[in-house]
Amino acid sequence: MSSLPILVLNSGSSSIKFSVYEAADGQRLKLHEGAVDGIGTDLGTFWIKDAAGKKLVDQTPALPTRAVAFALVADALHSGDFPAPVAIGHRMVSGGPTVQDNQRITPELIDEMEKYTAFAPLHTPIAVYIMREALRLFPSIPNFVILDTYFHRTMPEVARHMPIPSEYAEMGVRRYGAHGISYESIVYQLQPDVPQKLIVAHLGNGASISAIRNSECLDTSMGLTPTGGIISGTRTGDIDPGVLLFILRKIAETTPNSTEAADKLETVASKKAGLLGVSELSNDMRDLRDAIKTGNAKARLAVDKFTWTIAKWIGSFVAELNGLDMLVFTGGIGENDMDSRAEICAGLGALGIVLDATRNNVRGKAVISAENSQVKVRVIPPAEDLIIVNHVVRLLSK
Ligand code: AMP
Repeated sequence: MSSLPILVLNSGSSSIKFSVYEAADGQRLKLHEGAVDGIGTDLGTFWIKDAAGKKLVDQTPALPTRAVAFALVADALHSGDFPAPVAIGHRMVSGGPTVQDNQRITPELIDEMEKYTAFAPLHTPIAVYIMREALRLFPSIPNFVILDTYFHRTMPEVARHMPIPSEYAEMGVRRYGAHGISYESIVYQLQPDVPQKLIVAHLGNGASISAIRNSECLDTSMGLTPTGGIISGTRTGDIDPGVLLFILRKIAETTPNSTEAADKLETVASKKAGLLGVSELSNDMRDLRDAIKTGNAKARLAVDKFTWTIAKWIGSFVAELNGLDMLVFTGGIGENDMDSRAEICAGLGALGIVLDATRNNVRGKAVISAENSQVKVRVIPPAEDLIIVNHVVRLLSK
């Protein structure tokens, strides 16, 4: 196979990350990576690094809109300073019930995925905007959508189905999960010795856990949207529906328009809750750990809630898997916060999980379990862009 520069686009609610990989004969070489961050602010950041980490672009532009942000990326890629891509892979959190396979993007496919914006309300609007712009600005090359939900498609019906009236289930309301590309990348990195019974905890600003049996997803904590599952930076995670009804009725007292009231409830549940809501301080684990050192009780409660919930989910997934061979931590907190790892594992001794305090004092890839632990515990950073490139290469060769 000849060499193929492939562009990966990965957008968040206020950022666009991208990378260019050279893909040839099974080799994957990252050539460049970059990001525009701070969309909606007067002082954003825009940088591009080469493979050695040298900054080729380093700017602090005003980023009033996502159009301004994406134009910076597109202009740089068109400048001739970087290799022209032969294909683009777009990360997409959810394509709804009708778009579940990674595939080539057409204008009709984008319209179809956009119908299910409510399934990933923080992510879908910017992702579909960028797909339309990429089709317009790079008309001669194929664009592919690579879905987070793809990894979770193997979940059995009993895990996917929600206990709701059938009429809503028929509208596509069920559990899809998220962070699937990260999970896929952990399984990929564990090859060829992927343990039969594996739990991966992706703990970042968004956090979720998956039970993986024989390399396939058996169950995952996130549900219809990334707001479900375990508590995360600004999201509730799973919660008694009565709590949402209580808050909705409170909001309705001053917001009679039902659509506006629903939007306000969404903001409460997905942007103001979680670690931020409980601590009233920050959604960032580093801030919370600093605050705990100064005796901040709300920060302590927020972090305890986080680690306690994760330990509970791990316990329930061990029951589903009927045992456990390996636990993997990934994501910004999973990779870097040894205190969270220690606190989560502290209550899991009965499941055969024993951490080694010295080994756990690490950032990045490592085995952190003690020799006598029945379950191997590892830290593995995700390699999402690599998985997107692999899918694009596979789809290009079809
Ligand atoms: P992500 O969404 O994967 O980028 O992860 C973001 C989360 O990782 C934030 O809560 C950060 O505070 C956390 N994080 C990143 N670096 C560290 C660190 N050195 N110690 C503790 N938490 C960290």
